[in-house]
Amino acid sequence: MRHIPFPRLGQGGWMIGEDPARAEEEIAALRLGLELGLTLIDTAEMYGEGRSERLIGRAVAGRPREGFALVSKVYPHNAGRDRLRQSCEDSLRRLGTEYLDLYLLHWRGAVPLAETAEGMETLVREGKIRAWGVSNFDTADMEELWSVPGGDRCAANQVLYHIGSRGIEYDLLPWMAERGVACMAYCPLAQGGRLARMGQDLRSGPALLRAARAYHATVPQILLAFTLRRGGVTAIPKAGGAAHVRENAAALDLRIQPEDWAALDEAFPPPTSKMHLDIE
Ligand code: NAP
Repeated sequence: MRHIPFPRLGQGGWMIGEDPARAEEEIAALRLGLELGLTLIDTAEMYGEGRSERLIGRAVAGRPREGFALVSKVYPHNAGRDRLRQSCEDSLRRLGTEYLDLYLLHWRGAVPLAETAEGMETLVREGKIRAWGVSNFDTADMEELWSVPGGDRCAANQVLYHIGSRGIEYDLLPWMAERGVACMAYCPLAQGGRLARMGQDLRSGPALLRAARAYHATVPQILLAFTLRRGGVTAIPKAGGAAHVRENAAALDLRIQPEDWAALDEAFPPPTSKMHLDIE
């Protein structure tokens, strides 16, 4: 296992760089996030087929490289012997950087895990990436990864996690914690509340509103506080403008008391059995 220290809160890069008219606002938002301590930026070759990486490259240009972490992801069909290096080099070029702090397999595809692990380790040796990991892997996938040569060098698993989707707490999170695999929580804001499931209201449900009122906070801040509740989880909310970035960064200061967590747990119960992994 390769351990890497990540900030507790980072910045998501999905759907940025799509609209040229919004580019300056998005760049300013990312830079503000870096100033406020959200020093990890997540992207993927898939996002806008490189447009997200290019915009992030513009946002970080000229900044001391050790001051922030860049995470990108490779398409499953590019994660084999022949294409992995090319994909990585393309991401590096679009981001305008010499190395990625973390390179993830975006989701599981047809390429054997052993081949991806071997290719990732080669990229580490070549200095193109600092560490590698996976995304959307459930416990059985992680077990399988651990069984292939070099698979246990996986440093992180990026999975969907928010207060309305807690299935990973049952087995995946404990499995990863035991092995020191970092968890990166994507959709920590349930996409602005849109990912409501089973009748849950993640924008204005009474328990969330009560907690928000009690802490002079907003519901999105309570959602973020939830993903930050346990150690070893980095949340990567996406925000397209300065106001949302400021609001999200301030969630780091929330200290929710046990009795208020208990009320939220009642409204959004933790899993009591194995659940399928939610994927967005
Ligand atoms: P999210 O971060 O849960 O939600 C983003 C949405 O919330 C945007 O519409 C954003 O609007 C809004 N928002 C942000 N801050 C807010 C605030 N303070 N108040 C109200 N609304 C707010 O969803 P996501 O972007 O899908 O997930 C986060 C990141 O995870 C992605 O950007 C991507 O990097 C990663 N991800 C990874 C995978 C994977 O398969 N590995 C899948 C999905 C996502 P504005 O843009 O207007 O601020």
